[in-house]
Amino acid sequence: MFDLTGKVALVTGASRGIGRGIACALAGRGAMVVAAARGDHALAVAAELTSRGYRAEAAAIDVTDAAAIAQLPGDIVRRHGRLDIVVSNAGITRDQLLARMKREDWDAVIGTNLTATFSLAQAAIRPMLKQRGGRIIAISSVVGQTGNAGQTSYAASKAGLIGFAKALAREVASRGITVNVVAPGMIDTDMTRAIAEKVQIDWAVEIPLGRLGTPEDVAAAVCFLAADEAAYITGHVLAVNGGMYM
Ligand code: NDP
Repeated sequence: MFDLTGKVALVTGASRGIGRGIACALAGRGAMVVAAARGDHALAVAAELTSRGYRAEAAAIDVTDAAAIAQLPGDIVRRHGRLDIVVSNAGITRDQLLARMKREDWDAVIGTNLTATFSLAQAAIRPMLKQRGGRIIAISSVVGQTGNAGQTSYAASKAGLIGFAKALAREVASRGITVNVVAPGMIDTDMTRAIAEKVQIDWAVEIPLGRLGTPEDVAAAVCFLAADEAAYITGHVLAVNGGMYM
């Protein structure tokens, strides 16, 4: 089940946290994985995967570099013959109350979380249209569904991904390309640890399933949406949030 042998996948933000978990899970199911992050940050995960016998390589990319992002899918197709799965996962927060939010922080969050997904999806659908198939998966957030005080920029970027995915899903459905969203809740990564240091949160109260999620919880949902078994699912928002939002 969810065998991805022969598929070629690109995961942004694959150096750590959720993206690393997704890269490992896709590779573990047989996909050739291009793990992307800034500079040499994704080298370690690619090396770890190849040392375990999986097919993987690192790509040095800043997702806010639109020209570089526009080229990446074409480069992957030239090297590996195809591109089947694109996971737009790289993301940042610059949390602040709106009254105090700096325009540059707003722009950074929207640029990294939303505009980069536009650039990546636009470049990726070209080979996918030719292949007449593909999977685009955006990593949104429960905050894009519920809002959260102090996170107007982050919530706007993550809600924007949902509208973007639903619109694109309708554009490319006739060519066998699906576009879906995974919306994680609170997942145990560097990003959440930074928030947890600022505010003490009782996860058992906030989360019906009583624990933080893991990168592997999110990665399992991505593998499902990436697989042939999910061919009839598009424009969907798959929550992986322990029941935080139902
Ligand atoms: P981390 O902060 O642990 O990792 C972020 C990843 O994004 C890193 O790999 C980082 O790579 C990459 N990244 C950030 N900016 C850029 C950039 N400009 N160009 C390329 N890569 C970049 O985050 P998480 O793993 O926690 O989050 C991953 C995604 O999941 C994000 O989109 C986040 O919004 C979302 N999410 C996370 C939740 C959580 O609870 N953790 C909950 C809901 C959603 P680099 O090594 O280059 O810095």
